[in-house]
Amino acid sequence: MLTEGISIGKAFGIPLRLHYSWFIVFVLITWSLAYNFLHTYPQWSLATSIVAGVVTSLLFFASVLAHELSHSLVAQAAGIPIQSITLFIFGGVSQMVEEPKQPQVEFRMALAGPLTSLVLGGIFLAIWYWLGGVSEFIKAICFWLGWINIALAAFNLVPGFPLDGGRVLRSLLWWQSQDLRRSTRIASNIGRGIGYLLIFIGIALIFFGNWINGLWLAFIGWFLENAAASSYRQLALQDILRGHRVSELMIRDCSVVLPQVTIQQLVNDQILTSGRRCFPVVQNDRVLGLITIHDIKGVPREQWPAKTVGEAMTPFANLKSVSPDEDLATVLKILTEQNINQLPVVKDGNIIGMIARDNLLSFISVRSELGA
Ligand SMILES: [Zn+2]
Repeated sequence: MLTEGISIGKAFGIPLRLHYSWFIVFVLITWSLAYNFLHTYPQWSLATSIVAGVVTSLLFFASVLAHELSHSLVAQAAGIPIQSITLFIFGGVSQMVEEPKQPQVEFRMALAGPLTSLVLGGIFLAIWYWLGGVSEFIKAICFWLGWINIALAAFNLVPGFPLDGGRVLRSLLWWQSQDLRRSTRIASNIGRGIGYLLIFIGIALIFFGNWINGLWLAFIGWFLENAAASSYRQLALQDILRGHRVSELMIRDCSVVLPQVTIQQLVNDQILTSGRRCFPVVQNDRVLGLITIHDIKGVPREQWPAKTVGEAMTPFANLKSVSPDEDLATVLKILTEQNINQLPVVKDGNIIGMIARDNLLSFISVRSELGA
């Protein structure tokens, strides 16, 4: 979901993105800030209030970004690559390629964000205190930014996974018990409980007429409950897959197809008869790309007799692939994040097989049924 959005550059080599939902919250916050400034400072013009609203929201999102960056930088220092940081409607998220392998690393990583917010809050309040007399404008925005950063730190320290506080709690339990799965279960159950509590408080607020805050709180609660439940499910799946390699599960008998074959021919002669979903496109022993059901669905049916496989395929250069030695837990993560169904398995520049979501799912279901 969070792979969509627009790129806004890089910081410390990490790509930064804005998810579409971010724009909604940016407008809402700017609008409500401008409205509040106008009421608190009746002598301000409408333009001043709007400018103050925009500046404050931009600095607020810069603060959220700094919070996320601090998580990412601690992760990178511990050798965990960060794919990107995305700002979305509920804040920021760092997309890690893998989870920390030691509780100590997770502890430091999780704590870095709230500490950064706390320090930023302190800086803004210090500016408010020392420079507040110089300009009412600075005074107004720094006061709000100071408290919102402190509130951000406090909310994130709530010990429900996947909030930072929940990660701190999980790392401590994990440190003590050396049992990651059990620690995650406890921390994410607390996360779900807090989610339900926020939904309950939100609904209560709606009943008391404070429906904007109530709705917002209920929405955050719902999101937290979902994130907590799915991160535990994800971990349980990864637990089953971890330690197994792509080469154990991949399909080796991929049938190849020539680029000049038409889509119609491919569908009639190969797909409908074999039930396979994807085919490496090969010419003169060279892999040009991959054509999948997904690619074919992108071509209008009336063009099938004329369009060739070579035109509709995904070229090799644009393909995400895995090596046969890759861990299956990582493969699941890639499939989920990229929202794709299969990946070509590549060794020395050649496609030697395919690994599909179906393969992983049947592997998981057999193992969990047998309790292995
Ligand atoms: Zn955080």
